[in-house]
Amino acid sequence: MPQRIFTIDFETICAFSNNQNIELPYHLWDLEKTFEKMQAILETHQVSPTFFILSSTAEKYPKLVKQIAEHYDIGTHSYNHNLINTFTIKEFSQDLKKSIDIIEQLTGKKVNKYRAPGFSLPAIDYMEQLIENGIETDCSLTPINHFYGNKTTNLQTPYRIQLKNGIIKEFPITTFKFFSKNIGFTGGGYFRLYPYSLIKHFTSKTSYLMAYIHLSDIEPNQAKIKELSLPLQFRRMVGIKSAERKLRNWLNDFEFVDVETANETINWEEQPLL
Ligand SMILES: [Zn+2]
Repeated sequence: MPQRIFTIDFETICAFSNNQNIELPYHLWDLEKTFEKMQAILETHQVSPTFFILSSTAEKYPKLVKQIAEHYDIGTHSYNHNLINTFTIKEFSQDLKKSIDIIEQLTGKKVNKYRAPGFSLPAIDYMEQLIENGIETDCSLTPINHFYGNKTTNLQTPYRIQLKNGIIKEFPITTFKFFSKNIGFTGGGYFRLYPYSLIKHFTSKTSYLMAYIHLSDIEPNQAKIKELSLPLQFRRMVGIKSAERKLRNWLNDFEFVDVETANETINWEEQPLL
């Protein structure tokens, strides 16, 4: 049976470039309203995602995060979305611990899943800090080339990573090959950019898929941010008007589960060990 996983990155970050996060100010975005819209979509299509929560956003929206944790599987998406390659290992560990503490205190739920901001988890010695901080499952690695050089294995299936202090279960981000390049299509700007026919085609070809949607991906009523460069403006807003319809089609045409359900269904002993 195909293993397709639906996740949502819960954050108010609307763009980042050259290690700089651009956050949409509180007064420019009614996050609660966008969340309601997302919840209606999830209910209609009976999809229960995993929410990767940015803890600095959780501090601003504690009620919403409690509500999310009551209904859905959760993980952490760091404290304030600094790319991991800008951290020393010690700083990374502190950031991770802070993010976990905030979410656990707020929700009363144990946090053992992680997604790095911008998929920026760069090296094995950083991953050991995941285990140090009680993370068992990571959803950060991708074979997509980024400006911060995060290139991992091309495996398009869940796998295990042997570290000095234990084993991490990894659900990588799905890509398709275009000539020799790995290209994403399951979330963010990639998802908004491609026509649904292409997304459907690539989805039907996979037996494993990791989707990562943001609340901002389905909110066309976002304020303009003048400081953004033109490429960033484009990346932020491309396809945003049709994204909700596309998402509804996707959730209608394919079955998705959350990370926890996938975790329980997979026989991890049979998955590759790197
Ligand atoms: Zn993010």
